[in-house]
This record gives sequence, structure tokens and C-alpha cells, in this order.
Amino acid sequence: MTTDSATAVFLSQAKALLGERAVLTDSEGFAPYATDWRQKFFGRPAAVVFPSTTQEVAELVRLANQQSVALVPQGGNTGLSGGATPDESGRQVILNLSRMTRIRARDQDNKTITVDAGVTMQTVQEEADRMGLTFPLNLTARGTATIGGNLSTNAGGTAVLRYGNARALCLGIEVVTAEGQVWDGLRGLRKDNTGYDLRDLFVGAEGTLGIITGAVMALHPKPAGVMTALACLPDPEPAQAAARAVALLQVAQECCTASLTGFEFMTPASMNPVSDYYPQFARPASLGSADQSCVLLEVSHAESEQAATAMLERVLDIALQGSLVADALVAQSLQQAQAFWDLREHITMAAAEDGLQVKFDIALPISSIAEFCQVAQQRLLQAYPGIRLSNFGHLGDGNLHFNVAAPAHLSKGLDRQGRHEAYRAYVKANEDGIRRIVHDEVVARQGSISAEHGLGILRRDEAAHYKSPVEIELMRKIKQALDPNNILNPNKVLRTPS
Ligand SMILES: Cc1cc2nc3c(=O)[nH]c(=O)nc-3n(C[C@H](O)[C@H](O)[C@H](O)COP(=O)(O)OP(=O)(O)OC[C@H]3O[C@@H](n4cnc5c(N)ncnc54)[C@H](O)[C@@H]3O)c2cc1C
Repeated sequence: MTTDSATAVFLSQAKALLGERAVLTDSEGFAPYATDWRQKFFGRPAAVVFPSTTQEVAELVRLANQQSVALVPQGGNTGLSGGATPDESGRQVILNLSRMTRIRARDQDNKTITVDAGVTMQTVQEEADRMGLTFPLNLTARGTATIGGNLSTNAGGTAVLRYGNARALCLGIEVVTAEGQVWDGLRGLRKDNTGYDLRDLFVGAEGTLGIITGAVMALHPKPAGVMTALACLPDPEPAQAAARAVALLQVAQECCTASLTGFEFMTPASMNPVSDYYPQFARPASLGSADQSCVLLEVSHAESEQAATAMLERVLDIALQGSLVADALVAQSLQQAQAFWDLREHITMAAAEDGLQVKFDIALPISSIAEFCQVAQQRLLQAYPGIRLSNFGHLGDGNLHFNVAAPAHLSKGLDRQGRHEAYRAYVKANEDGIRRIVHDEVVARQGSISAEHGLGILRRDEAAHYKSPVEIELMRKIKQALDPNNILNPNKVLRTPS
């Protein structure tokens, strides 16, 4: 039997299992599933299947095994590494979990919520809020990104500094293995040392080891007061501004300890596209000058809003006196705080509107950030004159999106489509060289080339380039042991040996 006829058998079995409406085979409907959010990767799936229960997922995986059909797990398809995009063979099947949306249990005293994998991050946040608690995992795509996707990418976002990443908030998971068995690891425990930590193997595996179908997520008490400020840094030079931001972080951490819940760095090149394409979310005109970088600070206090305000004002007083900050606005209302976050959260969307960039998702020891920015910026500008360094990110936890945008002059006189084509061509021609410079400098400082977005297909070969043969071999052994037929998201994270 050829693979194509095997795929046909699988699809007819899938239709019998799920019903015709849960198996999409019309290629005209593929677009939202077959292409990644950034429109960098364009896949050609055989179909998209939409199971609604764990048992259906398990049965689909068993059938896929019998027919050797590769499955690409997918949640909200907001991932930024191409991990949820199928290849171009026309044979892979996307297994989309967005119809698995049950809230399975709420436990007020244990401060946990148990959900299907297809529940969105925002739904969990809203459920937590109704319980008088908070689910602190937070990122811009929260309305679409799913808990299964968050766990599979070990997502980070804006509150990692205080609450940790998705892994840290996950107490238990339910997984369909690559052979179609169901592992019920839905234990809501904060301590459980009963052998190998299987949960942590599947978290961050990007759908290559198993399919996460449910999870127990930890919730936290709601802070009584949350205060936000936007500060601008005196240095017009972005690498110096990064150094200044690191110094400001030290002050903020000393004054606030665990109450510092957000610390986001933004250079002018990252904020300018927000002014261009989403002017309603632009940086406040009254704050500093347009060539200055900004830091968004958020303080959450258990006692009261006044206590949070006092803490934040103390940080800013010290920073202003020490010339770490040139100017600052403390939000006077929830709307103003939201406006500060809107600026930060629209950077990625504005960048996408501007055109394709060479994207980075690096982590560094905080102590290396200033020097890294200096050296990497110098090397990049020397080798690629005119590039725009759109550096921003969750600096508080050492994570920068040190993105490189094409020189603006390339789009002179062009309309939107022309600009997009010109920038895409520039990225295609130069991304390998740009990536080598940035990643070499990251790895030289014991950093990571993927802090929170995962490897997917985008960084798969880069990871192989930098990881030791021992580490790659261990990863291969795990993949072989858990997915012996290589049917789960093949060629992602690790290149399939030819
Ligand atoms: C505007 C914007 C801002 C973002 N900001 C951040 C940010 O601040 N921090 C951050 O970390 N990320 C960020 N992201 C990236 C993205 O939202 C996260 O990676 C998110 O966790 C992906 O969830 P998803 O449901 O969309 O997963 P998908 O994109 O559908 O999938 C991502 C990966 O997980 C696998 N997968 C999905 N569901 C499952 C499952 N149930 N079982 C097994 N494997 C599965 C897929 O195969 C793929 O490899 C942002 C994205 C956008 C568009």
C-alpha cells in the first residue's frame, strides 16, 4: 500500500470515528491551519482532524500508527517557530485540539484548575478570576493560544519573572502516547518524587513525544493592588539603554523583591512600527523623546493598591535620582495601565504588519545582557548596514527578542505588498548570516537560542549546531523510545535522520 492510499484509509476511518464535519479535507479551508502565524512556513496537509475527546485522540493515534500517517498536533496555531505547520508532502494530517474545550474541575483550596488541552489561555484566566484567583501565564495571543500549545512550547510571556513559565504552572497532564495509550498524570500535586518526571518530558516537547489532552494548572492568590509604570531611559543608543535597563532591574528587584511582576524592555525600533500601524497604541507623546528606549514595570502587592504604588514610586525615585531613568509615568487608571501594556503587546503584531524579520528569542544571564547587546549590535550593523534592530522583551527574566528588520530604504515608494516582498527577499538572502552572528554571541555567553518559543522547524538545525553530540544523542534516544514509528510531528525539534 502506498502512503497516499494509507492516508486515504486513515481519513475514511477518521470520518467514521469523528463524523464528516470533524475531518477537513477541502484544501480551500486549510489556510488558517496550514500556515504559521508569521506566514513564514507554508504547509500542505492531507487533512485537518478535530477530535473532541481524549478517547478520540487516542483512537486517531492508533489508526495513524496502523497506516504510518504522520500527525501534526495543533492548538491555536499561534506558535512562532513553525512547530504546528505540516510539511509540504501533502501527506501529514493536522490534529487540531481546539474543540477540546471542557473545564474538567476547579479546586479552590488546592488552587488548581483541570482543563482540556484545547481550552484557551484567556479562558483559564477568566475562570481563575471567577474563582477569586489568578492564572498568571500571559501573552498577547492569549485569546487563541491553548493550554496544550502553551505546555508543548513551555510558553513564557510577561509574568515569568514572578510566577515562572508554563512548566512551572503545570502540576499534572494527561497524554496520548505515540502508540495511542492514555497516560493519566492529572495529579494536582506540588510535590511528587515518584521516579522519572514524565510530565516534564512532555512539557516543551512541541508535540514530538505525545499529545497533551488535559492539564492541571496551578492558580495563585490575586494580588490586592497592581500598579504599572512606563519609564524612558536617558540613552538614545539602544545598547547603552539595555545596560541602563539592567541597572534599573537591580533597583526594582531590591525594592520590590517578589512583588515585581513585570519588567519589559522596548527599544525605539521595536516601538516605531506600533506608532506607524497601530497609532492608537503608540507610546505616550508626553513621555521622554521618540529616540529613547522604554521599560514597562509592573508591581503586584498582596496588601493594597497604595502599597503597590508606594513600592513603584520608590523604585522610580531612586532611578530618577541615579539617572537610570529620564522620565516616567505611573498609570493613574486601569485604562492607562492597559494602554502601557497595549504598546508592549502590539510590538509583535506591528512588526508582522511591517514585514518579515529575522526573529530571535534568546535568553542570557542578566549579567551578560548589556555586553551582548553592545557586541551583537556592533557586529550586525557592520555586516548588514541599514538594518533596524528591533530589540525588546521580557528583560526581567533574561529573555530578549533581538529581532532584525530589513533596511527601511528597501521599501521606499512601495505599497504594502511591495514592502512585504522586499523585506521577505532581504530576510531570505541574509537570515543565515544574521542568525550566525547573534547565536554565536548568545552561546558564547552560555545563553539559549530559544527562551520561550521552542525550536519547531525554525530553530531545529540551529539547536543541533550548538548542542553537544551527547545532548542530541540523548534527545534522539528519548524520541525513539516514545515515538518509535516517528509519527508525531516528525522533523520538528530534531531532524528526522534520512
Ligand atoms: C502576538 C503573539 C505574541 C506572542 N507572545 C508570546 C510570549 O510572550 N511568550 C511566549 O512564550 N510565546 C508567545 N507567543 C507564541 C505562542 O502564542 C505560544 O507559543 C503559545 O504557547 C502557542 O500555543 P498554541 O495553542 O497556539 O500552539 P500551536 O501554535 O498550535 O502549537 C505550538 C507547538 O505545540 C504543539 N502542540 C500544540 N498543542 C499541542 C498538544 N495539545 N499536544 C502536543 N503538542 C501540541 C504543536 O505541534 C507545535 O509544535 C506569541 C504569539 C503571538 C502570535
